[in-house]
Amino acid sequence: PSFNKMNLNKDLLRGIYSIGYEKPSLVQSKAIVPIISGKDIIIQQQSGTGKTATFTIAMLQVLYGLQNKNKNGLQALVVSPTRELAIQINGVIENLGNYLKVKNFCLTGLTNNVNGDKVSIEKKIKLDLKRLADADIVSGTPGKIVDCLKRNQIDFENLKMIILDEADELLDENLGFKKQIYEIFNKINSKTQVVILSATMSKNILEISKKIMNWDNHIKI
Ligand code: AMP
Repeated sequence: PSFNKMNLNKDLLRGIYSIGYEKPSLVQSKAIVPIISGKDIIIQQQSGTGKTATFTIAMLQVLYGLQNKNKNGLQALVVSPTRELAIQINGVIENLGNYLKVKNFCLTGLTNNVNGDKVSIEKKIKLDLKRLADADIVSGTPGKIVDCLKRNQIDFENLKMIILDEADELLDENLGFKKQIYEIFNKINSKTQVVILSATMSKNILEISKKIMNWDNHIKI
C-alpha cells in the first residue's frame, strides 16, 4: 500500500511525506479512502496505530483536495475528551496541511485564558473569535463546543463531517461529556458524515452510532 495510490491532492501528499510518513499504517490503508468517499464509519483502534493521521488526511482531502472549495464556515469538527488531545490533533492538522491553505482553530476550555492586562486579553478574545468564525476546521473539547454553539459563535450549517476521537471516553458515564455530545448531535443535520474512533466497542458507542449514523450504509473497521 502507498499514499500515492490514494488519489490524494499533491500538496497534501507533500505534507504527508514532509513529516516522514513513508507508507500508510494498517488503519490508514483501510480507512482513508472510505472516509474520503463520504461513508459513515466506526474505526475501532487503539492510540499509536496512526489513527489521528487517518482522519486528518481524509478530512484535508475532502476539504481542500479538489481545489473547488467554495463553502465558507465550519466544515469539519473534531471532538476529543481532553484539552491536550485537542491541541495535539490541531498540531497534526497543521503539520499534514502545511502545504494547503488550512484554516483551523483549536477550541478548548482555556482558549481565552491569557496573561496580561484587560485590554490585551480583550484583544486576544476578539482575535480568537474572528479566527473561530473563519475556521474551516475546529478541534475542540465538548464543553467549549457546546458553549460556543449556545453563543452562536459556531454553527453547523455547512458541516461536512464530524469526528469523535476517543469516543469511548467521550461517552463514558463517569466523565460527564455524554450530555454535551448529544447536544452537539442534536444540532447536526442528517447530511453530515459521522466518523467515530474508539478503542473499544461499548454499548454506549453502539447506542449513539445507531442514533446518529446512516446505519444501513455505515462501515466498521
Ligand atoms: P496515533 O495513533 O494517532 O496516536 O499515532 C501514533 C504515532 O504514529 C504518531 O506519533 C504519528 O506521528 C505516527 N504515525 C502515524 N502515521 C504514520 C505513518 N504512516 N508512518 C509513520 N508514522 C506514523
